[in-house]
Amino acid sequence: MARIVMKFGGTSVADIERIRAAAAFVRREVDAGNSVAVVVSAMSGETNRLVELSEEAGPPAPALDARFVEFDAIVATGEQVTAGLLALVLQNLGYRARSWQGWQIPLKTDLQHGRARITDIDDTNLADAIDGGEIAVVTGFQGIADDDRISTLGRGGSDTSAVALAAAVGAARCDIYTDVDGVYTTDPRLTKLARRIAKVSYEEMLEMASVGAKVLQTRSVEIAMAYNTPVRVLSSFDPPDAPGPGTTICNEDDIVEQKTVAAITPDFNEASVTVLAVPDEPGRAARIFTRLAEERINIDMIVRSASREQGFATRSFTTTEKDLERAIETLNEEKKVIGFSSLQSDRNVAKVSVIGLGMKSHAGVAGIMFQTLADKGINIQNISTSEIKISVLINSDAAEYAVRALHDAYGLDRQAVASDPKA
Ligand code: ADP
Ligand code: ASP
Ligand code: MG
Repeated sequence: MARIVMKFGGTSVADIERIRAAAAFVRREVDAGNSVAVVVSAMSGETNRLVELSEEAGPPAPALDARFVEFDAIVATGEQVTAGLLALVLQNLGYRARSWQGWQIPLKTDLQHGRARITDIDDTNLADAIDGGEIAVVTGFQGIADDDRISTLGRGGSDTSAVALAAAVGAARCDIYTDVDGVYTTDPRLTKLARRIAKVSYEEMLEMASVGAKVLQTRSVEIAMAYNTPVRVLSSFDPPDAPGPGTTICNEDDIVEQKTVAAITPDFNEASVTVLAVPDEPGRAARIFTRLAEERINIDMIVRSASREQGFATRSFTTTEKDLERAIETLNEEKKVIGFSSLQSDRNVAKVSVIGLGMKSHAGVAGIMFQTLADKGINIQNISTSEIKISVLINSDAAEYAVRALHDAYGLDRQAVASDPKA
């Protein structure tokens, strides 16, 4: 008998019919003799609705963090509903099941309301319950912060709840049920030529998630990697008695066929800001980015370029479209302190990333990327790299086209399965 954690995302619990379908997958594991904890998201669209309501209820309290405490109390409710509903459905099927909220586990987090990180999970009660034959249906996305208030883990956080619980109870695996039947070589909504990847390494999945493949929250992959928890991505739309193989996220050593490039990931939520003519001296970048961090504005690609005027430099960075307005306001308030001349911004940008472990050992991946974009007449505004990733910032109108061109260029298209991507 193994301990298993299963997670169902928003579209997989979107209504009672979908909740019944999820229950069928849960039954299968329980009937096979496993101890099962199930983590659920809110019904699809519900968290967005709650976020909008909390924004409408403004104006924000003077201390930004105080506002996020109540924000969490509001947005965490979506998961409470689905946990109760799935427990009820399972009970009506004749199973012993109960719902659990984050604080009841307890799943403890730090004080960063709205995007809290898990600090500790006391698995005693949960492990006893599931080993005693009761199905535990746990609210994803939420926990209890050190201030004894409800906290949430950031958008997509139910993935993280599931993997963290799996690690805590030493689960044999964590199965993430969603609306696609695995992790693909690019978002399958963008091209029919995208291919399901049978096995992907933690490292590659981590990069994919962090550059915008929303199929898994980044933090969930970090935890899976740290605790060596096997994770599978599966479709809740498959027949419960004959589910597809999905994608297994595992150690690099467990993957026989390693491609140079594993996936292409677009991110359409980027916006760029250019801070013109900042004095070129120590401390100026710190002023810009410290203030933005204090406002909890996420920053991504940062570039420094020469300014036309002697002794000045231009700083460009990207942030999310959502944070753009606040970033501009914050910088304008600090204009004198930072000492820039003016700001430019652009919402019409997207980031496209190429990810693959093979980049560590194969040269030329960047060359193929840049040449492919050049051949298509696409201008690169910004570049950033890691050991296994290259990202470019381009005009968002060209992003889908770029993804398809790169997908083909690296031999990832469906019909090219057998070909060597390096050829
Ligand atoms: P859930 O509500 O189940 O958590 P999400 O919407 O958060 O589901 O994540 C699933 C979505 O991720 C898919 O519908 C798909 O459009 C998107 N996605 C983006 N990149 C990829 C990828 N490389 N492989 C699979 N899905 C991807
Ligand atoms: N319901 C939350 C969200 O929509 C958490 C999740 O679904 O993972 O972001
Ligand atoms: Mg998700």
